Amino acid sequence: MFLVQLIYASKVSDMFLPGDVESILASARDNNKALGITGMLCFNSTYFLQCLEGSRAAVNKIFNTISTDSRHDDMLILAYSEIYKRDFGDWDMGYVSESKLTRKLMLKYSSTDLFNPFSMQGTSALSMLSELKSEIG
Ligand code: FAD
Repeated sequence: MFLVQLIYASKVSDMFLPGDVESILASARDNNKALGITGMLCFNSTYFLQCLEGSRAAVNKIFNTISTDSRHDDMLILAYSEIYKRDFGDWDMGYVSESKLTRKLMLKYSSTDLFNPFSMQGTSALSMLSELKSEIG
């Protein structure tokens, strides 16, 4: 089965409540392990940036589930590609919070110094996530 990688951006909706990130991560870690999905999620209280990788069937399935989640909207796929190896194979769903999304990092990968994944191209988003992965360990 092919491996694919999908990167998307989205924005919190009015339905999003404090504490929802913890429940999202808990569901993600349980479900992703069962589906063989790995990846990373960045969040800064306004925007999400998520990378999902795994079999094409599993990534498409979980993306369809996530796309119906009322806690976010305006989903935009930044990249979807077949890959020969995983970039985030050690993470059922690694998490990057706002404190790691520094001005310096944003200026390196986007046109603004604030985290806004809608202003990033897919390759920049992937490079930034890879840099954050090395930092987090
Ligand atoms: P449960 O684990 O039983 O749900 C846990 C709790 O979350 C519920 O009690 C409920 O309060 C709340 N909840 C669940 N679904 C919704 C919803 N649609 N709207 C409001 N509250 C809800 N899921 C993954 O499996 N893998 C991921 O990588 C992943 N990434 C996500 C990224 C983002 C930005 C968002 C917003 C959601 C993500 N989710 C992910 C969650 C996904 O959308 C589903 O909510 C989840 O897969 C449902 O899992 P479950 O059936 O085990 O629900």
